[in-house]
Amino acid sequence: MSWKTDTLTGWGRVLSGTAQIARPEKPSSIAHVTGDTPAPAIGAQRSYGDAAINTDGKAVDMNRLDRFISFDAQTGVLEAEAGVSITQMLETFAPQGWMPAVMPGTGFATIGGCIANDVHGKNHHGVGTFGQHVLSIELIGTDGKTKIVSPKKNKALFEATLGGLGQTGIIVSAKLQLTECSSRLIQVDERRANNLSEFMQMLKDSTATYCVGWIDGTANGQSLGRGILEEAELTKSNMAPKLRKSRKVPFNAPSFALSPPTVRAFNRMYFNRVPATGRGVLRSLEDFFFPLDKIHDWNKLYGKRGFHQFQCVLPDDTAERTLREMLRLIADAGLASPLAVLKRTGPGRAGPLSFTMEGFTLALDFPNSKKSVALVEKLNDMTAEAGGRIYFAKDSLATAAQAKHMYPELAAWQKTVKTADPKGRFKTDLVRRLKLRDSK
Ligand SMILES: Cc1cc2nc3c(=O)[nH]c(=O)nc-3n(C[C@H](O)[C@H](O)[C@H](O)COP(=O)(O)OP(=O)(O)OC[C@H]3O[C@@H](n4cnc5c(N)ncnc54)[C@H](O)[C@@H]3O)c2cc1C
Repeated sequence: MSWKTDTLTGWGRVLSGTAQIARPEKPSSIAHVTGDTPAPAIGAQRSYGDAAINTDGKAVDMNRLDRFISFDAQTGVLEAEAGVSITQMLETFAPQGWMPAVMPGTGFATIGGCIANDVHGKNHHGVGTFGQHVLSIELIGTDGKTKIVSPKKNKALFEATLGGLGQTGIIVSAKLQLTECSSRLIQVDERRANNLSEFMQMLKDSTATYCVGWIDGTANGQSLGRGILEEAELTKSNMAPKLRKSRKVPFNAPSFALSPPTVRAFNRMYFNRVPATGRGVLRSLEDFFFPLDKIHDWNKLYGKRGFHQFQCVLPDDTAERTLREMLRLIADAGLASPLAVLKRTGPGRAGPLSFTMEGFTLALDFPNSKKSVALVEKLNDMTAEAGGRIYFAKDSLATAAQAKHMYPELAAWQKTVKTADPKGRFKTDLVRRLKLRDSK
């Protein structure tokens, strides 16, 4: 297996590093590479910060391991290699009546990346995280040997792998329980929420299978926290989905593209696009679940300086007070981009390092600048004080002390990981920055 020097970059384009990368095509090549030089795996590099970067080290790119191994059309159990993407699964199995049980907001993410960050989707409040639908995992350790881990076999290692940021080994393949879907269309109902209290109540009251909110990060005063609630149900319609054409952002956008007046005007228009009485629309599954995927390289819209995403989850008892204060700071700073999400989360999580908890999650993008770094650092502090958590898949600015405070099961996870990888060969930039494997 040959190693090629290349640059690894987080999706936010602020953090990057040069590494030697191997691109194996067969599980046997991974075993060979890993037994010889253990190195962390990377997927589609859709994590925003440094989760998939190993500066001056090595990394095993899993994207060529993208084959389906077996599928049972009666039970919906799929076994697939770790480099298979969410979109590949949706496109192949939705016509047969099955789809991934949990899907993040991009279909480019791979099975390995979705397990390692224990990702959540628009149905988290009902079905929990991606890891909760994983039946077993084939994992290669530092010795190049393959282990099967499942809730019955190597339970502690299995759980430490779910949300475990690749620190327990390389996920070669996994068995997943897919969920039934009757067509490739989804009925989406959109309603306006005029302020934060109304929005949070609407999210709490929703009984929809899929539910997500767009929030206007520029609104202030009486409109603080206004947005649009999207509730969706799979349909039995036999109409063919109308798919949008893919477009590409060809160059780094100039800084005025996301200037405060432009974003404010865009957000006003976006809010008013939904009538005050609400509206219903039929969409393709791809358009509803992955709204940004049709614009390839949309991260270039933030220009060369890149952007930071802030995503926190807050428990119910502190959520409203903290969100109000956060949104006030964000609106006053005039730094938010139109991409902002408010969602209700349920209690489901699969491993000790999984992000989600019962409460509310807020996610916002900020073009990279000194001012936005200071703002995100402040928001991270507020999250910690409120008993919430920052999402490692999105983070580029949290501190080791914050990570320790937010993830109380860190010590138990470290113990399992230490046995699996005693020499720290699977460490990445994120793990080093947040000292996730340091026991003190
Ligand atoms: C537009 C957009 C929307 C998003 N929406 C959501 C969302 O709604 N919900 C959500 O939870 N996340 C969301 N994300 C984040 C994304 O789902 C996660 O970052 C996911 O982990 C990306 O998968 P990947 O294949 O790109 O993994 P990478 O980013 O390449 O890697 C992520 C982590 O997984 C590890 N890893 C990857 N493959 C393997 C493997 N085979 N074995 C062991 N470890 C491995 C890496 O070491 C790294 O720690 C979104 C990202 C984008 C860009």
